[in-house]
Amino acid sequence: MGLLHGWQTCPRCRTPLEGEASPLHCSGCGSTYYANSAPCVSALVEDAEGRLLLSRRAVEPYLGLWDCPGGFLEEGEHPFDGLRRELQEETGLSVGPARFVGIWMDVYGDAPEAAATLNIYWNVRVDGGEPVAADDVSELRWFRADALPGPDELAFDTVADALAVWRQGKEPRAY
Ligand SMILES: [Zn+2]
Repeated sequence: MGLLHGWQTCPRCRTPLEGEASPLHCSGCGSTYYANSAPCVSALVEDAEGRLLLSRRAVEPYLGLWDCPGGFLEEGEHPFDGLRRELQEETGLSVGPARFVGIWMDVYGDAPEAAATLNIYWNVRVDGGEPVAADDVSELRWFRADALPGPDELAFDTVADALAVWRQGKEPRAY
């Protein structure tokens, strides 16, 4: 299972790899390959009315299901720079300051080689502009906290977890 699933030869020099899962070692060129969780960033985007922006996925896995705007970090990219980049690419929105929400572990689909993902969530407020779906998003829609899509309509388990935390923060408190 995971990133190195099915790896038999070194991608650099074609020598057969040694090892069971992670790490795999190449005796030909000395390379070692580790399977780390892929870091992803996601935004719980709110508008002035306290509604949450969800994005409908235009790509597999989970094509057609609701997700939070975000995506994979690029090599060497700071997570918050990645968040701003993904928001710009998928929604066209720029956002104000962010509040850290949490980190959840997940898997990117059901395939044997599916990457384990480390998902970092922030809560952000839109500072103006209307969202326009682009890139790997087919639709963007604002949801009230009491009218979020059900678990069957959500792409990843992680999305349900993050939404639950967000919704909890919206509930009236007696103290
Ligand atoms: Zn090698």
